[in-house]
Amino acid sequence: MPTSPISRRDYLKAMAAAAATPLLARSSLAAAAPLPTLPTLPASDAELLVPGSARYKKFQVAYNLRTIKAPRLRALCKTPQGVAAVINWSRDNGLPFALRAGGHSYEGFSQSEDVAIDVSQMNRIDIASATMTVGAGAALGDIYAKINAAGFAFPGGSCETVGVTGHALGGGFGFMGRPFGLACDNLEWAELVDAKSNIITVDAQNNADLFWALRGGGGGSFGAVTRMRFTIHKVQQIVHFSVSWKLNPASAVKLMQAWQAWAPHAPANLTTVLVLANGGKGRVALTCSGQSPGSTDEVRHELAKLTKVAAATPTITVSSRQVPKKPVSGWAYPSLFQKAKSDYVKSPMSENGMAMLFREMLKSPSVGAICDAYGGAVGSVPGDATAFGHRDMLYSIQYFINWAKTSNGASETTRIGELYAAMRPYVSGAAYVNYPDVELPDYPTAYWGANLPRLKQIKAAVDPDNVFRHAQSVPLA
Ligand SMILES: Cc1cc2nc3c(=O)[nH]c(=O)nc-3n(C[C@H](O)[C@H](O)[C@H](O)COP(=O)(O)OP(=O)(O)OC[C@H]3O[C@@H](n4cnc5c(N)ncnc54)[C@H](O)[C@@H]3O)c2cc1C
Repeated sequence: MPTSPISRRDYLKAMAAAAATPLLARSSLAAAAPLPTLPTLPASDAELLVPGSARYKKFQVAYNLRTIKAPRLRALCKTPQGVAAVINWSRDNGLPFALRAGGHSYEGFSQSEDVAIDVSQMNRIDIASATMTVGAGAALGDIYAKINAAGFAFPGGSCETVGVTGHALGGGFGFMGRPFGLACDNLEWAELVDAKSNIITVDAQNNADLFWALRGGGGGSFGAVTRMRFTIHKVQQIVHFSVSWKLNPASAVKLMQAWQAWAPHAPANLTTVLVLANGGKGRVALTCSGQSPGSTDEVRHELAKLTKVAAATPTITVSSRQVPKKPVSGWAYPSLFQKAKSDYVKSPMSENGMAMLFREMLKSPSVGAICDAYGGAVGSVPGDATAFGHRDMLYSIQYFINWAKTSNGASETTRIGELYAAMRPYVSGAAYVNYPDVELPDYPTAYWGANLPRLKQIKAAVDPDNVFRHAQSVPLA
């Protein structure tokens, strides 16, 4: 029986043990003006759900309960034509809309009190040779289940219910990232509904600027993606590994320094994340997890670079699957109240920076941090080859805090804000668009850096009326 390295989902679930919560606890069904007459659409194109519809609640689910909203209309689209018709209708009636794929946006950018254009039912996955074509609603776990069974891997994140669309449009980092790049680096072609409700396709030859923007520019800015084709990679096996420690802060600094010096420069087969948490009794809990399409010997040899700093016994298993667990249905994922923020580390973080991180984390039992090591194929793509702006970073860090429904979240949000403020002297100032934070003062620069001017030009060219927008979409030039 293969043992999985701790996944983000497992970790976040454990952190939020007390937060088992009815899904609609914080939302109120809109007591708003009646909707205009709904568009007439065949059921084969879209199912239109309004509060009170029998199936409305079934699809009223999102990862973050802090930002969940109940739309006046959820259009469960089944075809690009359905998406185009609902965009047309929303625009003609002056109704804001959100695009919803997997529903994992940390800040609820796929949520709307008005119209949710929900592509989750467009989730077909087809494999042909070393490519897969996926509907925009496909979940990572369903993708892995299908392609792993055929001997392929795809470099996406480790949480099986994350939607491939929001994930890849923002970059998409996962345990196969250092051998095979970001999810967006493997995008070959996409079909989308544009701001004029035309169904168009993009690739390296056609609408090449838009193709560039879709690879890291983030979801919800350029059009409603309906299908994508990605390169997938033949693998012989997938080595899963995990090693954990509970250390006092001074020893934890030494270990994190060793991880930082190793993980972004390790052989490209190995992708690792370092998960940090409050280990109780003044200790820091650290888990280095990862995967490799290479050999167990190489993994064992490489992990010795950490275990010689602090003794521990790694768990190393071999599987044909990226997510060893049976994937859950795209709708059955756990939701929680959460606030997260993200940073990038460009030059090695100082001992003082790590000591500050642990000091701040240990002030709360429910703060965690996850560091994703870049380098390898993530770092070898030129910085301006796609819209993803952070090729030269050593690693990202996301800080997060979860809370139970009995809290209004104010003190937790303040806590994560204080931690983030304390880390300013030690990090680059950049942030990851897939770990968004509405409090970022200059989000376009933080998310896209030097690629921002080109992204704004493309936005102005393809969506001059800002039809596709949310609180942190790409701004017009
Ligand atoms: C538990 C968890 C684990 C995660 N793990 C990782 C990880 O390992 N690596 C990583 O890189 N990220 C990770 N993420 C972040 C994840 O990549 C982003 O939250 C991603 O945007 C989720 O995509 P989604 O389709 O599920 O979300 P949604 O909330 O549906 O959409 C996200 C964004 O995309 C837009 N969008 C949705 N549908 C469309 C469409 N059809 N066309 C255009 N835009 C659209 C939305 O408007 C929104 O702005 C994780 C998030 C969670 C909650």
